[in-house]
Parts: sequence; structure tokens; C-alpha cells
Amino acid sequence: MQIQFLGATGTVTGSKYLVSAGPTKILVDCGLFQGFKQLRLRNWANLPVAPSAIDAVVLTHAHLDHSGYIPLLVKNGFRGKIYCSEATYELCRILLPDSGHLLEEEAGYANKHGFSKHHPALPLYTQDDAERCLKFFSPVKFRHRFRVAGTVNAEFARAGHILGAAIATLDDGKTIIAFSGDLGRSEDRLMAPPSTIERADYLVVESTYGNRHHDPADPMILLGKTIQETVNRGGIVIIPSFAVGRAQILLYYMHLLKQSGAISNVLPVYLNSPMAADVTALYRHYRDDHRLNDEECRAMCHAAKIVNSVEESKALNLQHMPMVIIAASGMATGGRVLHHLKAFAPDPRNTILFAGFQAGGTRGASMVGGADAVKIHGEYVPIRAQVVQIENLSAHADGDEIMNWLSHFQHPPRRTFITHGEPDAADALRKRIEEKLQWSCTVPDYLETVELK
Ligand SMILES: [Zn+2]
Repeated sequence: MQIQFLGATGTVTGSKYLVSAGPTKILVDCGLFQGFKQLRLRNWANLPVAPSAIDAVVLTHAHLDHSGYIPLLVKNGFRGKIYCSEATYELCRILLPDSGHLLEEEAGYANKHGFSKHHPALPLYTQDDAERCLKFFSPVKFRHRFRVAGTVNAEFARAGHILGAAIATLDDGKTIIAFSGDLGRSEDRLMAPPSTIERADYLVVESTYGNRHHDPADPMILLGKTIQETVNRGGIVIIPSFAVGRAQILLYYMHLLKQSGAISNVLPVYLNSPMAADVTALYRHYRDDHRLNDEECRAMCHAAKIVNSVEESKALNLQHMPMVIIAASGMATGGRVLHHLKAFAPDPRNTILFAGFQAGGTRGASMVGGADAVKIHGEYVPIRAQVVQIENLSAHADGDEIMNWLSHFQHPPRRTFITHGEPDAADALRKRIEEKLQWSCTVPDYLETVELK
């Protein structure tokens, strides 16, 4: 077998790994690049392999930096099957058309206001393109080995990162290669811990927080304190978040904070996502992915008022009473949160609260880094609101949790590839694995190809 790294090298975005076994070509993950412009431009470049020559896609989870390129892959000629867990398929059915819709909306907005260098600005793909790719999905159960293409089989195990997230193991009958996907936390209040993997000849492991140690304190306490301080000064809390999957977990915290009296029971909480209403059923259906019972699922999904229409979303920007608004996208790279940031970021009473990792080059990373203005829709928006990042609200394992997950391997893999991290994080994890476990590690380069013998 052979692997080529088509993304998630030197960055947490654009996850794409081309695994070849003789004539068979399989793409593991098919994500969009986000953040720095030189990365985003890769979304527009041709892949080094024709999409029509790829036999199948194996998808670890629904986050767009793992799934968001699928509509374009299909548009450009891919006709194979896309294997993923059942919950990942359900999330992709909601998210990919929304992604296409947002891309169209952004291009339309750029054309209307004339801030794009391209005339006309075109979307990377449309909502129709995204609808069309869905028929290629083929959901499979966890812990069920299935034939992907040619001589290659695969199996999914729970990764505990978001609903449906999987660790994928591929083999051609001789060599096993495991992909951690995005690894969840071992002690998350809501998600089940990642499954352990005991055997692989080669391993591709994520390193988002490879150089960090999450604060062991309960993130809910800091969340409650931040919200209450903002409310006390008459401010509004904006939480950029992936609107389906992880946002529900923020809502569960809101429910608990209200229940315990840490925040006012009447504080309005809005989840600005027309897709969110469909998600309650998903949580009730996929019970093994998380730790909540039926009643807790219900409480979680009723902890916010769902904002459906664009008009309702715009109306929120005219309100000045304290409230919490959760809106996508999580790194403020697009979505409805941009309109809320334009409205609320200039006011020092407000708070912008980041609950996940902010990739370099995104507006989120700029704000966390202390930028006094960010460019949104062609104009600079001053950031006078308080900016808070609660890293241990993240859905990713930290360095210790990754090391703990690796400790379950019975034998060292022949080689471990460290991906899905910014350069410091990937390199810190490489050093740690080499020193503590004496495993052979590589931090691969973009487009590097390695023979797996
Ligand atoms: Zn993810």
C-alpha cells in the first residue's frame, strides 16, 4: 500500500489521505482547507489524482474540514461510494447542503457589494451540488468490517469527538493502517470516550492540541462565570460554534448552568441554525455515541430558542438586552455568526467566546490573538468586545489524552504519521512519542507519498 498526504499537513484543515493498494485508490476524509489564504486556494486547485479515478471515500466524521470537499469531488467526477457511520451520514445530509448554500450566499454577497477580486465571484460548489453528492453515501455500523474497494477492507470504531465520529482502520489483508480521525476527550461530560486501538502497522494520528494540556477544571464553571460577568455589564455573549453536533453540548451546559442557578433561568439563549431543530432526534437515536439519557437529550435541545429564518437572525442584531447567541461557523470563517460579530463585536460590554480550536489564518485565531479589528465582508470591524477562549470545552484530546490513547497499542506501529496539527503542535507530539514510546514518527509534508511495506 501507499499513502499520499493531500491535506491536514501543517494545518488542522483540509484532511485528505489517498491510500493506494495496487490499482485501488481510496480517499480517507475529504475536507475543506480553511484559514490562511494559501491554504484556502488549495480548495480551488486540482487534486493530484482525478476524482473519477478514486474508487471510494472513507469518512471519519462530519466536520467540514473532513467532509466539506465531497460535493466538489462528486461534481468533478467521483462516482464511488462514500463510507461513514450512520450518524455522520445524517449530519452530512444536514451540513453539506448548508455549506453549499453558505458558499452561494457569500459569493452573492460579494457580488452585490463588490468586495471580491473575482468578477463574478463564484461559489466553490452550490447547494444543488451538495444535494447531489448525498446519494453516494453508504452508511455502515461501528465495529463492522466491510469491503471498501479492491482488496481493501475497513472498520470504524467510536472516536468520541462529535456524534458519529470514527477512528477508521483500513487493511488489504496484509497491512493495517489506522486513522485516528479527530480524537475526543477521555472524560468528556457528554461524549463517550474514544475507543482504543490495539494493533496497526501504520498509524495516522491527529495532533490539534499535541502541545497543550487542557485545564483539568470543569469548563462549565468558566463558561458560567463568563456569561454572568457579561450579563452583569448588560452585554451579549456570541459563541461561534459548529451549529450541529458540538453546539448541542454547549446547550447542555446552558441547561445545567440554569438549573444550578449559575446563570439566570430567564436569560435568552439562541441557537442560530435552521438545521438545529433536526438534531434532537439524532441524539436520541444515536445513544451509544454519548452519555445522555432521553430526558437529558430533551433538556439539551430545549435549552435554546432555535433561530430559523434570516429575518429572525437579523432581528437579533437589533436587540440590546443580555442574551447568548450560538451561531456557526466555529472559527468565524463564514456563516451567520459573521453578521452577529459585525453587530456586536464593536461594543466592549459584549463577549465573544470561542469554544473550539482556532486554526491559523481564521478570523477566530485573529480575535483570540488580540486583533483590534477583523475584516468581514470587505470591511474592518473593530473588536472591542471581550474575547475569551475556553480550550477545555474543545472536542479534541490534549497531548496527555493522545499519549494515553496510544498506550493501548500492543506493539509500536512501524511508523506513525502525525497530522492535523499546526507545526508546533505536530512537532511537539512527534518528540513526545519518540521520547516516551520510542516509536518511529514522521510529520509528513503536503503531497508527500510514503510506501507502506
Ligand atoms: Zn472534527
